[in-house]
Amino acid sequence: MIPIAKPYLTEEEAQAAYDTILTGWITQGPRVKEFEEKFAAYTGSKYAVAVSNCTTALHLSMIVAGIKSGDEVICPSMSYIATANAITYVGATPVFAEVRSDYNLDPADVEGKITSRTKAILLVHQIGMPADIDAFRLLAEKYNLKLIEDAACAAGSEYKGQKIGSHSTLVCFSFHPRKVISTGDGGMITTDREDYYNRLQLFRQHGMSVNDRLRHDSKTIMFEDHLEIGYNYRMTDIQAAVGIKQLEKLDWIVKERRKIAARYFDAFKDLDFIQLPFENKDSFSNYQSFSIYLTKSSTVNRNTLMQMLLDKGIATRRGIMNTHRETAYKDVTGDVELPISEDLQDNSILLPLYVIMSEEDISKVIAIVLSILTKSQLAVACGSVDSNLV
Ligand SMILES: *Cc1c(COP(=O)(O)O)cnc(C)c1O
Repeated sequence: MIPIAKPYLTEEEAQAAYDTILTGWITQGPRVKEFEEKFAAYTGSKYAVAVSNCTTALHLSMIVAGIKSGDEVICPSMSYIATANAITYVGATPVFAEVRSDYNLDPADVEGKITSRTKAILLVHQIGMPADIDAFRLLAEKYNLKLIEDAACAAGSEYKGQKIGSHSTLVCFSFHPRKVISTGDGGMITTDREDYYNRLQLFRQHGMSVNDRLRHDSKTIMFEDHLEIGYNYRMTDIQAAVGIKQLEKLDWIVKERRKIAARYFDAFKDLDFIQLPFENKDSFSNYQSFSIYLTKSSTVNRNTLMQMLLDKGIATRRGIMNTHRETAYKDVTGDVELPISEDLQDNSILLPLYVIMSEEDISKVIAIVLSILTKSQLAVACGSVDSNLV
């Protein structure tokens, strides 16, 4: 069986976790601090704050950006549901905007959805492909909105030659195993604002005025106060130790992922019934996922293709979900019209792509996808339509 994804974890990560456990300091402590400093340096941002996952990173970002009940935040519906959930957690309303065929938000549609209640734009770099950040920066300036980036999938991706994490005041990353580097679960927020940095640290640890490490190192007794009603959104030192090792490998992992993506591009580029992902001139993708879209001229439908691949031992996933179609959002957003998002969800499929994928497995995926798709096109062209295929 060829899986859709696999985290790239080695003896090194295992040893780092082992060593950390034996130090006796296992929750947020010196390893978390080190991981934050290294992540900030890597992305070129001033500060980084580690948290339990990207969903909590997004929640805290909403809080420090001052998003409240009654506010509207514009985001894509076509994203993992956590994007919209973070907005809902603070009592605000997600307003879903349309995406373009590169799976990222359409600035023109976003502008059309700005109202007097709009307080922020929550941009998503979908499947690791950087969105056009500058277009949204301009909108944010013009309408006095906060710009927050959901970069859950985008560690190691670049926009205009700089790493994602350096462009906006709040950028949120995920280290879930389905992303490019992993700490089991885990998240990070990068920011260039000291006031945000301080408040993020406060809110991730119960609103406590003194963190454990400070108290531990202090030569005089220290008592904490709880300044705000915060959360327990800490990352553990065990996770951070793994994260430090993963971060050292990130550029190499992205390079290897791009090599596999290049193989897919090369194999599928001449087929006019599938649309391949594309990098805009300012974007450099980590290819967190490789998505192909079946156009109207494809004679195989998406589900049939997925089932046929599964029968041959190749796992795939359907296109990115549309949050407005989920039961949980039926009453939140009411009727929304997002034909491009829905079409991309219904007709896209994600192919296996991971760093330890063997040459043999890459070739197998390519050969089987090609054989299913081209055989069907031929069959239809010759009039001998196989009803299993269509
Ligand atoms: C994975 C993902 C999240 C959630 O990340 P967690 O670390 O699992 O909380 C949020 N947004 C997007 C776009 C994602 O892909």
